[in-house]
Amino acid sequence: MLISDLLKVEKPARYMGGEMGAKKKDNADLRFILAFPDVYEVGMSHLGLKILYAILNDVDWVAAERVYAPWPDMEEMLRRDGIPLATLESGLPLKEADVIGFTLQYELSYTNILNMLELAGIPLLARERGEGFPLVLGGGPCACNPEPLADFFDAFLLGDGEEAILEIARACREWKGTGGSRETLLHRLATIEGVYVPSLFEIRYDSTDRMESITPLKKGYETVRRRFVADLDAVSYPTAPVVPYLKTVHDRISMEIARGCTRGCRFCQAGYIYRPVRERSPEKVLEIIEQTLRNTGYDEISLLSLSTGDYGCIAPLLRALMARYASQRIAVSFPSLRVGTLTRELVDEVKKVRKTGFTLAPEAASDRLRQVINKGITEEDLLENAAEAYSAGWRLIKLYFMIGLPTETPEDVLGIAELAKKVKNTGKRPGGGGEVNVAVSSFVPKAHTPFQWEPQISYEDILEKQQILRHELKKKKLNFKWQDAPLSVLEGVFARGDRRLGRVLLKARELGCRLEGWGEHFHFAKWQEPLRAAGIDPRFYHRRRALDELLPWDHLDFGVSREFLLRELEMSGAGANTVDCRTGRCSACGVCDFEKIRMRLNDPDVAQESGDAPLFPQPATLPQEGMERIRLHFQKTGAISLLSHLEMLTLFTRAVGRAQIPIKFSQGFHPHPKFSFATALSVGVVSWAEYFDMEIDAGFGAEMVKERLNAILPEGVLILEASAIPPGSPSLAVIIDRVSYRVTLPESIRLDLPALVDAFLARETFPLRREKKGKVVELDLRRELVELRASGNALEMTVRRGKPLEFAAAVTAFPLPMLVGARIEKLRVFFTAE
Ligand code: SF4
Repeated sequence: MLISDLLKVEKPARYMGGEMGAKKKDNADLRFILAFPDVYEVGMSHLGLKILYAILNDVDWVAAERVYAPWPDMEEMLRRDGIPLATLESGLPLKEADVIGFTLQYELSYTNILNMLELAGIPLLARERGEGFPLVLGGGPCACNPEPLADFFDAFLLGDGEEAILEIARACREWKGTGGSRETLLHRLATIEGVYVPSLFEIRYDSTDRMESITPLKKGYETVRRRFVADLDAVSYPTAPVVPYLKTVHDRISMEIARGCTRGCRFCQAGYIYRPVRERSPEKVLEIIEQTLRNTGYDEISLLSLSTGDYGCIAPLLRALMARYASQRIAVSFPSLRVGTLTRELVDEVKKVRKTGFTLAPEAASDRLRQVINKGITEEDLLENAAEAYSAGWRLIKLYFMIGLPTETPEDVLGIAELAKKVKNTGKRPGGGGEVNVAVSSFVPKAHTPFQWEPQISYEDILEKQQILRHELKKKKLNFKWQDAPLSVLEGVFARGDRRLGRVLLKARELGCRLEGWGEHFHFAKWQEPLRAAGIDPRFYHRRRALDELLPWDHLDFGVSREFLLRELEMSGAGANTVDCRTGRCSACGVCDFEKIRMRLNDPDVAQESGDAPLFPQPATLPQEGMERIRLHFQKTGAISLLSHLEMLTLFTRAVGRAQIPIKFSQGFHPHPKFSFATALSVGVVSWAEYFDMEIDAGFGAEMVKERLNAILPEGVLILEASAIPPGSPSLAVIIDRVSYRVTLPESIRLDLPALVDAFLARETFPLRREKKGKVVELDLRRELVELRASGNALEMTVRRGKPLEFAAAVTAFPLPMLVGARIEKLRVFFTAE
């Protein structure tokens, strides 16, 4: 896509590609596109795709590229100009790929998948995709009931992808060489463990619309068992992930320390479909983190797992991380901390660098309801943890609850506000207390959990309970966030839906439904028609399922047995607790074969404390004290010119980390590297004259800064000059006197520029009033102009203040919008001494 086209959309960096760590291969046998059905900022935060991107690109005959759902402004341009949706790496249209693998993270992203296929010019229905069209694959948590998507996908991968993805790629490559039919490939894929080909099963419904039968059409393919990675240490992990220019949802190192959780919360799908618990060894974790920090320049590490506090060696691991990185201001966060796993030691370690968000998820307000869901924590545990967090200095605790859980009573709903207030009170002290944010979602029963047979509360019930909470929490002066009821209704339909929902999705897509996860683009009313047209009442999918009813996902085996789920359901009714097999006895859930597939835990007593050597060894001559200021002159050209000032700041922050430059940090709660830019350059302006200052440890040297940065900066950013400036020198903003620009008019505009220049120069004054975000700026463009001349179809000017396009508009008498598409170059900056 042309740079001038990208300039027309909000956040061009979403579509640019070329980020640090992005891989582009010209010659590969297999073109494998990894597609995320949401926008770049969300998709780039997803760990699974990063893992698969690295694994596939490590193989020389595969080129793995990325694509994300376009935002409506880009979608409109693609549709209007007939441009097919393409990848970020090489601009490969999706239609020309061999395989497109979608990650299925959330039921409400399904319309985005259809929209992306449509924008790519690929038939939506799998049966309509003839030879020559890419194979469309799906994987991720929603693949545990992919039936609503069965009509659109050729195959799904169930379970862990690290090993299976290569087997799939190999099968596709071999098949390509044979020129066999698509059907042959599907039959071949069905032989790979974990691959589910929906067209190889026939589904029948009875007269009441319930499932009647699931009939395999391939011999020996009655059920599909999910794929397991036995040992996380044995599979590869991305240590040089793509580093985005744009601020993404999780812009940090994602370190998966363990997979699986056996706490056994009965509502939690992840707790059943990722069993058993497999921990990465702390040695491996430290090794990966060290390499990733070097390769990315990130300053935050997020330790990921379903329950990070349960990681066997969490305390020694944190100690080792802090010993290595605290002095470099590298923070450690863990988004999923279970109540009861927070120890004083953990708190003390994490707060050494900076206090990242603190979240506790009691899920239900009463001890009774928490017994029903097998949460296994008491109010006492929760209040103790909250008090611990407040006393360690956290000001805000986020509490997560659910409404609509099985056996919930009105007292349980009111109890949410009561409990939140008690949590808040634990933070009370002279001079102010702690804050509490309460987030409440609606319980949606999910496949492969003990609650898969339970009903979901109605739309009206959700609204009523939310109203009660709004009132109660307001009375107690507590902040309240809730999930919109219509979203829960739809999520509940698709989470336990069947193949007939494909018709609903098709119609919804036709009516323009997409980006459902984005409030401003979700219109519940639009969904009524597709549901009506397909004769579907959401309540049919929300209802309680009979225990002997055939469920849409009954042919998909995620390891946990039906008997175990039924037993758990029964125990929930009795309020009985099932212990975590990590610390208690095995509850025979059915996942482990106790040979290859088994729990893998680290022993905290033998965990090696992995040294406290500094990450970035400094030159021997480097003094530890003192500071030097370095002034850098750089150019910003090509696609990089589309990056905003903020994105450039992020780029340099990461680059400095990656280049191991000992940057100085500001003081305070959120320290940031000491950079100061001369001015903020407008998006789309190519510049040969950008400047910024940085403060680094004394003795490192300007030349070293230049050399290291140029070795890792992306194409389009080049440091031209680096020099040390005396301490106390005035800032760049103070010493800039004037700037030269060239504005080349769009091809469509042909004018007698020399005459227009003369006329403008003959003026004494040209007042301009600019208003932005309520701020008024008044300028006299004529007086701010130092030099002006015509050069072909361009205006070259030197100005003190004002934007080059404003001058061009003033000289040509064209309104600004007509000049969009002009090429603007910043040629030179003159400083006061020059
Ligand atoms: S089979 Fe036993 S040990 Fe393995 S995950 Fe299930 S409960 Fe835990």
